[in-house]
Amino acid sequence: MAAIELRRLTKVYPGGVKALDALDLVIPDGEFFALLGPSGCGKTTLLRTIAGLETATGGAVVIGDRDVTSVQPGGRDIAMVFQDYALFPHMDVTDNVAYPLRIKKVAKAERHRRAGEVAARLGLEHLMDRRPGQLSGGQQQRVALARVMATQAQAFLFDEPLSNLDARLRLEARTFLKKLQRELGVTTVFVTHDQAEALAMADRMAVMEAGVIRQIGTPAEVFQRPANTFVAGFIGSTPMNLLDAVVRGDTLEVAGSAVPVPDSAAGLLADGEKVVYGVRPEYNAYAPKPAEGSSEGALAGKVVIVENLGASHLVTLDVNDVTVQAVVPEGSEPAVGDDGFAAPRRDRALVYRDGELVTR
Ligand code: ATP
Repeated sequence: MAAIELRRLTKVYPGGVKALDALDLVIPDGEFFALLGPSGCGKTTLLRTIAGLETATGGAVVIGDRDVTSVQPGGRDIAMVFQDYALFPHMDVTDNVAYPLRIKKVAKAERHRRAGEVAARLGLEHLMDRRPGQLSGGQQQRVALARVMATQAQAFLFDEPLSNLDARLRLEARTFLKKLQRELGVTTVFVTHDQAEALAMADRMAVMEAGVIRQIGTPAEVFQRPANTFVAGFIGSTPMNLLDAVVRGDTLEVAGSAVPVPDSAAGLLADGEKVVYGVRPEYNAYAPKPAEGSSEGALAGKVVIVENLGASHLVTLDVNDVTVQAVVPEGSEPAVGDDGFAAPRRDRALVYRDGELVTR
């Protein structure tokens, strides 16, 4: 097991696409690390460059204390799950999962025991005698995961490891993948499109945009305190409200209303400066139109959309032609056309200046 360190890692594809732009990243030994970002931001390229399947055009990949930048994939002691699984069609599940152990000359009984153990953790125990052609896409994906996790490697790399599982299985797989990774303690980097998956599974995560990392942190840090408006708009099942604001003393003028300066930005703003006020819909309380004078610190508007989220509702308000969203507990949702107001939580709201979080 080993830490992974990327130093000014750069990848320019022939034709000139800069998929990785002088990227610096340290993933400590044993960490479960997620790479998240929009399509085309360079996640897969990053994973493949760590594995050695792509050659870096600049910078270095260091695994443990070894610079492996010019080491072939086979010499890096890394196990990777590919998007196409790369299972052997003529082998059953046991032999597929045990294959890397066979290459390492682990005795048959031991490799079958290990393969069986990991496969069982991934819910494959009743399928051990089947060949890949007799499995569903989701089952094949779990076999590919089991094969990697049965291997002894310094690091695991997963590209969209749960993408082919249906919603329920995906939730289950999250839990046992995380548990298994923790038990094995192997440094793991996984790429996902699914932010809920990254937030749920990762010890830490990086949010990428166009070949650069826009934020690195724990899921809680990235969710609660997005470092810039890109991350703020990208993370969260409903995007953060990002509203133009002007500083007026202790308040911010937002869509014609005055809200208090958030705690995180207190004392850091200049009167009259233009900023962006950010608050997640989850931290925006909604209330019906208040009695005269009691809407201080809130954004008064008209309800234009009410969406059912299951246990809660997403309420969209028009506040002087500005769209503001709030999450409202089930049972207290308003009707379209109602007058109401959104009251942001001062301890959760954020301020961005030139796109970057204002913070101490
Ligand atoms: P997705 O989430 O859609 O899989 P990604 O974040 O994994 O995307 P990459 O596949 O790493 O992104 O691609 C990063 C950029 O590099 C994209 O602009 C892509 O078009 C480009 N790219 C990827 N592979 C190649 C290649 N072999 N040759 C040229 N350009 C490439």
